[in-house]
Order: sequence, then structure tokens, then C-alpha cells
Amino acid sequence: MAKKALKYVIIGDGHAGNSAAETLRRGSPDADIAIISAKPTHYFDHSMLASFLLDKKDITSLYLYPYTWYKEHTIRLRLNQTVIRVDPGKHELMLAHNERMHYDRLLVASGAKPKLPESLSRYKGLLTMFTDAVDAMKLRERLGKLKHVTMVGGDCIGLHLAGSMLKLGKSITCILNEYSFWPLEYDTSVKDKLIEGLKKKHIEVLADDITTEIVKEGTGLTVMTKNGKIIKTDLAFLTSGMIPNIDFLDGSGIDVQTGILVDEYMHTSAQDVWAAGECATVYYPELKDYRQSTGEVNAKMLGNISARNMLDEKKAVSLAEPGKITIGGEDFITYGWKGFSIDV
Ligand SMILES: Cc1cc2nc3c(=O)[nH]c(=O)nc-3n(C[C@H](O)[C@H](O)[C@H](O)COP(=O)(O)OP(=O)(O)OC[C@H]3O[C@@H](n4cnc5c(N)ncnc54)[C@H](O)[C@@H]3O)c2cc1C
Repeated sequence: MAKKALKYVIIGDGHAGNSAAETLRRGSPDADIAIISAKPTHYFDHSMLASFLLDKKDITSLYLYPYTWYKEHTIRLRLNQTVIRVDPGKHELMLAHNERMHYDRLLVASGAKPKLPESLSRYKGLLTMFTDAVDAMKLRERLGKLKHVTMVGGDCIGLHLAGSMLKLGKSITCILNEYSFWPLEYDTSVKDKLIEGLKKKHIEVLADDITTEIVKEGTGLTVMTKNGKIIKTDLAFLTSGMIPNIDFLDGSGIDVQTGILVDEYMHTSAQDVWAAGECATVYYPELKDYRQSTGEVNAKMLGNISARNMLDEKKAVSLAEPGKITIGGEDFITYGWKGFSIDV
């Protein structure tokens, strides 16, 4: 009797989820493959969102794949559906609308969300997010009215965005502290180089300072810092790093630390459950240690490796080639992050 094709379910329609789906389909033409995403549209390439602000391009030009790709590859894409629980014992997921869904093999590729420092949680409504296509479209509408923007933190998403803001002639203040360099590893030499680079680009840098208060004033904001600086600004972006999106795994028994702990084969502590991309904390034999996955290059690579292991290959991870970010002539090495330059 012919072996029944497996049902593969992927939580997440980002780089990791899509790369895994493509590999699974190639390796198993008859398998039942479903991608579930909480977002209302399929995946836009995040690394293009900063440059999207600079021209009149249609947002659909940023789709990773056209919608038809999923149909052509017989991959069921279920949008606007949020997973609220995973039960590895029963091989089951629970969706927010109370549907239970069975899987044979599950990949969690649920990415990351902006980190909101506890001290700023009461100002959440006054901070602007720049995390997806909707945020980018709303911001492009408002650009004409902005003269000055503030970066609350100095993560790479914010730095890339700052590059576009500069090209649009906006003034920028960047409030930096040791927690806000994500995903660059913080040390004094990185900090000094970054401050130097930003200053060369005429960005005001408030180093070793933190935002303490944000007050709405007319159409703008007043941002106050611990060191006594008062900034009148049109918008304050939350750019203080990202944290894995894994709340829905509470109670699943799957081991997590910062992200979901996976071994070198991207397997979690639960049977038939793998994890990849920015939700995963990965064991690298080369380091003999775990490293939190960040960036597009890692997400694609780890999605592919997970899928190969889900197809019963025994493929171990290796570190991604380093990428480079350039700011004011200063270069920064990133691991798994597709580089950019704000100088060109
Ligand atoms: C504005 C911006 C700019 C960036 N620029 C760069 C860059 O220049 N270079 C670079 O390397 N990286 C960049 N990144 C980071 C890069 O986009 C991420 O590393 C990459 O997208 C991670 O892929 P992922 O598949 O792990 O997660 P994501 O792409 O974040 O996808 C997560 C998916 O999981 C789904 N999901 C989450 N929770 C649930 C749930 N409970 N139920 C159902 N679905 C769920 C989401 O809907 C989404 O489809 C940028 C990110 C942003 C936000």
C-alpha cells in the first residue's frame, strides 16, 4: 500500500516559512503543505520597506512571491488566522477562531516583534512602529508633513529607516543606549564607531541616554531623556530591537529561552516540531553555543535547513556568511542580516 503523504504545517509566512515551504514542496511533491499567518496579506520583503518610502512604487512590488506562486506550488496559504496554542502531544494547533488543526510535522517560523522597553510601555500609543507594509504605507502618506524625527533606540531597522529619512531631507535625533543596537553586538568599539558614523551623516546622537517621557503637543511630540534633553519632534519611532514572537507557545511544553531552543537540526524539544527564523535560538556546533537568529539571510537559510530535516535528511546548521552595514563610512559586521548602506 502506498505511504500516505504527510501533512506539514508552517506557522509564519515570512522568509523562514516561505523558504521551508519551497524546500518541502520540492522534496515531497504530494505532501499537504499549509502556511498560516496572522497577517492579512502575504509576505512583503521587509528589507525593501525603507527604500519604498523614497519612490512611488506600488506596495505589491515588494511581495516576496506573487499570490499565484502559492497556488502553483499547491501550498495552502491561510492569512489572517492567528495560532493561539500548540499541543505537541496531540499534534494539534488551536487557531483564534477556535479551529483545531492537525499536523504530522510542524515548523514554527513566527518571527519577532518590536521590543517595547518596560519604562516606555505607557507611551506605546505615541510611538510609531515601522515593521510591515501597512506601517510603511501610512508613513509614506505623512512624509510631506515631517521635518524632524526621533529614533528611540538605534537598531538596524531604525538605522536603515534613518538612511531614507536623510535622503528625504528630514532632521534626525537618535537616542542610543546599550540595549538598542540590535542585532549588532554591543561593545564600546561598536558604540564609538556608530556614534562617529551617525554624526558624519549629521544625525544628532544622544549616547548613553534613555527616553523617559513622551508628551503629545499639537501635531507633534516632546521627547524627554534621562540626561535632561528635550526634543521637539514630529514622530518618535520605536527602534529598540526585536523579540521573538512566541507567546502562543506558553503551556506547550516546548523549551524556550529568548527564542525557541533548537538543536543543530533545527528541532525543538517537542517531537515533530521544528523552529526557524527570528523566533529561534539555534545551537551552532561551530560555536558550541546558542545564538539568537536575526535577519533575512538567517531566516531563509534556517527555513531551508529545517525543511530538509522535516523531510528526514540529517542536515546540521552552519553560521551564515557575515553581512556589512555602512554608516558614515564606518562598516559594521552582521551575522545573518542582509547588509545595507545609508551612504549611497
Ligand atoms: C522594517 C524592517 C526592515 C528590515 N530590514 C532588514 C534588512 O535590511 N536586512 C535583513 O537581513 N533583515 C531585515 N529585517 C529583518 C527581516 O525582515 C527578518 O529577519 C525576517 O523577516 C525574519 O523572517 P521570519 O520568517 O523569521 O519572520 P517574519 O518575516 O517576521 O514572519 C513571521 C510570520 O509569522 C506570522 N505569525 C507570527 N505569530 C503568529 C501567530 N501566532 N499565528 C499565525 N502567524 C503568526 C506572521 O504573520 C508572519 O507571517 C527587517 C525587518 C523589518 C521589520
